[in-house]
Amino acid sequence: MRVLVVEDEPTLRATLASRLRTAGYAVDEAGNGRDGLYAGNEYPIDLAIVDLGLPDIPGTELIKRWRAGERSFPILILTARSSWEDKVAGLELGADDYLVKPFHTEELLARVRALLRRAAGWAEPKLRCGPFTLDTSAKTLLAGTTGVEITAFEYKVLEYLMLHAGKVVSKAEISEHLYEEDADRDSNVLEVIIGRLRRKLDPDRTLNPVETARGQGYRFRFTPSQNDAG
Ligand code: CA
Repeated sequence: MRVLVVEDEPTLRATLASRLRTAGYAVDEAGNGRDGLYAGNEYPIDLAIVDLGLPDIPGTELIKRWRAGERSFPILILTARSSWEDKVAGLELGADDYLVKPFHTEELLARVRALLRRAAGWAEPKLRCGPFTLDTSAKTLLAGTTGVEITAFEYKVLEYLMLHAGKVVSKAEISEHLYEEDADRDSNVLEVIIGRLRRKLDPDRTLNPVETARGQGYRFRFTPSQNDAG
C-alpha cells in the first residue's frame, strides 16, 4: 500500500517515512503544500498523512482541494497545536482521523492500518477469505489453522489482493500501489511473487486462491468471510 507523507519538518518526515517503509508501505514524501497537493492528485496513493502547518499551501487547503477533486483516499492529519479549531476544520473538510504532536509512531502505524482496512471495507484487523486468514497487525498468514511463512514482499502483494478479494486487480495497479514513484517496476518480479504465493497458499493445487483473469490481472477467489452485518 502506498502512503503519502506531507510534512515540512525534515527530521519528522524522514522518521515517519522510514518507519512506514519498515512496516511495509511504499512512501512518497512531500516537504511543502505544493508538492503534497501534486502528489495527492497525480499518484495512486492509498492514504495521506498531512501536517496542517505547511509552507505555501496549508494542510486544510490540501484536504479541501483533494476532496473537491474527488480524491477519496483516507487522510490522517497531524497537528502541533492542540487547538481544537484546526482539527475540527480538517475533519470537516474530509480528513478521517488526526494525531496531535508529539505522538508515538506505533500509534500512527495502528491508525494507518485501521484507516486502510476500513477504506477497503474491512472492519477487523484479520482479513478472512475462505480458509485463509491474514492478520494485518501481526502480519501473519494462516491457512486453516496452519501458519504459512511469507516474506515481507509476498505479504504486501497478498494483502493488496485480499483487501480487494473477489475483484480483479491489474498488474499495473498492484505495482503502482506497492512501489514508490521513482522505483524500478518490473512486472516479471510480480509474476514470480504470485507464483510463490500460489505454491505457499495452495501446495496441493486444489484451491487456486489467486486466479489469473486473462489479460486483466489477478483475483483473490475467496471473498470475505467476516460477518459484515452492521
Ligand atoms: Ca509543520
